[in-house]
Amino acid sequence: MSGLEGYNALITGGGRGIGAAAGLALARAGAKVSLAARNEAQVVQMAAEIRSEGLEAFAFRCDVTDERQVRDLVLSARDAMGRVDILVNNAGTAASNPLSRVTLAEWRHIMDVNATGTFLCTKAVYDRMAERRWGRVVNIASVAGLEGGRYITAYTAAKHAVVGFTKALAEESRGKGVTVNAVCPGYVDTPLTDETIARIMHHTGKDRQGALDLLLAESGQSRLMRAHEVADAILALCREEAHGRNGEIVVLDGKEVP
Ligand code: NDP
Repeated sequence: MSGLEGYNALITGGGRGIGAAAGLALARAGAKVSLAARNEAQVVQMAAEIRSEGLEAFAFRCDVTDERQVRDLVLSARDAMGRVDILVNNAGTAASNPLSRVTLAEWRHIMDVNATGTFLCTKAVYDRMAERRWGRVVNIASVAGLEGGRYITAYTAAKHAVVGFTKALAEESRGKGVTVNAVCPGYVDTPLTDETIARIMHHTGKDRQGALDLLLAESGQSRLMRAHEVADAILALCREEAHGRNGEIVVLDGKEVP
């Protein structure tokens, strides 16, 4: 027994990076998992990897910024698994630009995926969780949800929105058996961070190691965190015994990692 037997989890952005690691961790803990993202091939492959361990996993295509697709996703996940007990709002995207170069389209896209996607997915599962008096919502924010950083106004605003949403819904959830928490990682070794490193290389002319060193120096980390380290924090918030953990903003800034 690993703690999540009999529970079903829906993980957005489950095709790669932190979402894929969270899917694997929750499935290994006994949950049935549904992975969702826009790139269907990626979630299908990740679900197959999880099933190859003899665990239960399903894959669905969904753009979390589209309310109808989110509604369909939740219906499909319920068809496949029976219920959604756990929601991990992990789908996210980032961009960096000085304010003068942030277009309205970029601002809206970053807000839509990170903040509005979290709102839409949560709204689609929340009432059923409250009716059953059992639910776990884990929102993947960022240290950028708590403090400012250079050239990431849109991302910082969006992740602050995720943290604010988490705190407010946690209050609304008191006494309902549904917990709502957020995880705020520093830089993690994922394709998203690869894009950030590529942008630094482009702007500074540094090689990959030079760009990575700059990123780490700016963040105060000695190395990138691994996706499974973030997945462990997500899993801890989903367990049955985490029923008393509500409204927590769990910071994994990576500054203490060896
Ligand atoms: P990746 O880019 O590696 O993965 C992001 C996932 O989100 C992919 O599966 C992607 O799939 C999915 N996604 C993106 N846009 C949408 C959309 N509109 N609808 C549905 N799915 C979408 O990122 P990470 O694993 O690094 O990041 C995961 C989360 O962690 C994000 O919220 C990110 O902001 C946060 N985070 C990451 C940090 C890092 O250093 N990596 C640090 C702090 C927070 P597809 O493109 O196929 O839709």
